[in-house]
Amino acid sequence: MTPVLVINSGSSSFKYQLLDMDTERTLASGLVERIGEPVGAARHTVYATPTDGPSPAFLDATRTRELPIPDHTAGFQVMLDAFAADGPSLTETPPVAVGHRVVHGGARFFEPTLITPLVEINIDELSVLAPLHNPANLAGIVAARTAFPAVPHVAVFDTAFHQTLEPPAYTYAIDVDVAASHRIRRYGFHGTSHKFVSEAAAAFLGRPLAELKQIVFHLGNGASVTAIDGGRSVDTSMGFTPLEGLVMGTRSGDIDPAVLFQLARRAGMTIDDLDELLNKRSGLLGLAGSNDLRDIRAGIERGDVRARLAFDVYVHRLRSYAGAYLAQLGGADVISFTAGVGENAPLVRAAALATLGFAGVEVDPERNAAPERGIRIISTDASAVTVLVVPTDEELEIARQTLSVARS
Ligand code: ADP
Repeated sequence: MTPVLVINSGSSSFKYQLLDMDTERTLASGLVERIGEPVGAARHTVYATPTDGPSPAFLDATRTRELPIPDHTAGFQVMLDAFAADGPSLTETPPVAVGHRVVHGGARFFEPTLITPLVEINIDELSVLAPLHNPANLAGIVAARTAFPAVPHVAVFDTAFHQTLEPPAYTYAIDVDVAASHRIRRYGFHGTSHKFVSEAAAAFLGRPLAELKQIVFHLGNGASVTAIDGGRSVDTSMGFTPLEGLVMGTRSGDIDPAVLFQLARRAGMTIDDLDELLNKRSGLLGLAGSNDLRDIRAGIERGDVRARLAFDVYVHRLRSYAGAYLAQLGGADVISFTAGVGENAPLVRAAALATLGFAGVEVDPERNAAPERGIRIISTDASAVTVLVVPTDEELEIARQTLSVARS
């Protein structure tokens, strides 16, 4: 058994997952939340692992506890207590490494990195670019290093996969000196997922990653699309922050920046108001009152015109990016869909690609609608471009990268 613990830390909560990297199965997972509030909560789930060959781990037992959790360090103690009480035992088989999701690696981190005090300082310094995320990620790292002082800790950055973007793809057309002094450029996010999905697609098709031109749509609550040439990210829809690009659950995606000037001047909105408007009250939520595509679909069935418009705007943006990335790549071999919407909404997948027949993209309606769960082809046999649904697994990808750094 080669256990690796993966930590995804937010400001008032963290998620964890323990994986056995011999089998790449999840042994346990959990969520510690409401850190710093009067009563916090900790959920710990243990998975029984079937012994008869590869199949997904299945849910065995979950226990939720409520208790005060003043800070992340206390949260890690609660997690350790949960492992001690419900298993698997971390004293019998301690993790060989701990992997941490870190949102922003700036232009400095382009690969998974062994965490040292200097790396912590760098992650902290990058909080200028990700004020909500990096401090929270760092709080998790510091607490986890206290809880597991003897094992290597590795940072896996959401931005790292996109560090292969060339200057024309990452440069905003603004004054170069202003941009340079504030590190304004496109960074891209969801990199761990885009990397995982593009590699899984190549492996599934039995084709060398280096030979494939791929477009990956990661459509969850946050959504982004990446053009990948030979395993390298060459363009991606999120930019300086995760606000740019596709229409998302609550984020606007692309918008004329002059709209902000107008709202500031005419509606008296402050920078914080505008931040909140575009990040939290826009996207599907702003258009139709729910950030959940299932509600949008139900609304359309009821004849709700706002839901219809929200869906159409969402799809219009997907098509624009599909076309743009076909142009940037000079065609594609594979188009993949992943995350909550990408894996579960055949309607979105079909609509996103419906106009691309001219480019050799042909989705098979029956394959697309089939209620299967694993990685699968949804294009016709005649389609020149293979269209896939690829369930993403960011924790597994973080664990893989963590182990490779820990072993090197
Ligand atoms: P996150 O970006 O928070 O990780 P997910 O990738 O889990 O989110 O995606 C969550 C979203 O996926 C939901 O808000 C919903 O819009 C969508 N979704 C989940 N299940 C379905 C489903 N069965 N059909 C359509 N959309 C779904």
